[in-house]
Amino acid sequence: MSERAGRQLHAGDGAEPRADGGPLRAAAGAGPLRVCALYPDLMNIYADRGNLIVLERRCAWRGIGFQLSASGLGEELDGDAYDLLYIGGGQDRDQRLCAHDLIDTKRAGLHAAAARGAVVLGVCGGYQLLGHSYTLDAQEIPGVGLLDVRTVREPGPRLIGNVAIEVQLKDAAGKSPAWADAQAENGLKGAALGGGRYVLAGFENHGGRTYLGAQQQPLGRVLRGHGNDGRSGAEGARAGNVIGTYLHGPLLPKNVWFADWLIARALAIDVSELAALDDALERQTHASACHAAGV
Ligand code: GLN
Repeated sequence: MSERAGRQLHAGDGAEPRADGGPLRAAAGAGPLRVCALYPDLMNIYADRGNLIVLERRCAWRGIGFQLSASGLGEELDGDAYDLLYIGGGQDRDQRLCAHDLIDTKRAGLHAAAARGAVVLGVCGGYQLLGHSYTLDAQEIPGVGLLDVRTVREPGPRLIGNVAIEVQLKDAAGKSPAWADAQAENGLKGAALGGGRYVLAGFENHGGRTYLGAQQQPLGRVLRGHGNDGRSGAEGARAGNVIGTYLHGPLLPKNVWFADWLIARALAIDVSELAALDDALERQTHASACHAAGV
């Protein structure tokens, strides 16, 4: 391990093959998926750790290697070392602590990773830190500027509740439609809306309102809930493989089709190359999150 590589972490308590004997063959030769969680102790509310566990299990069930590292306060980030970088949600207090460290020790590494196509996923507080700034109590907390967004804590209530958004991931063809068709066959509220549009469902709780720059694409369109600012109908932001969203839930256990899409993007393979898994439980979880949000 190089000096700058993060500490090794364990996402869950093991990643044994599934008891259902699901297929264990990966896309031949794919992986390992090298994941780095940024500030996993500080930026981890609403069990964001569940997102990492989903990535680990879905790789392990397919026989894809999985390496999870952590990068905390004061630790440099090697921009070549990871395929997927994750930063979860945090209290304002912890965000303040991480923001300056992010600029000082990880900004260059994060930009280098994003430039070579690594997936960078920020959830809620993590999303805010991927933007330019988070203005709070007349103080501006700096972000790394990977997304052209600015967040402001304005007077008004926190934006809280179940949320569902529609995302258009043209390159999600392959696995996702099959996943969504099976959802429909099982009579469950599904991920697919048709026309390459899919539903992400989760839970949001943020005081900050996030505004997109003129050219910045949102991640999706709000079907139910508040989204970026409670008014625009936009949720999250996406620039290539850099993605920010307010969806906790945690996000990936409730939307495993999206976890697969991220894994495929991070490994630079087509999502259809990932072996199918028995997702009966995961489909029900997704349906229940959609139901909770009212879609
Ligand atoms: N502290 C941020 C806010 O309230 C983010 C909260 C979160 O990560 N849930 O806007």
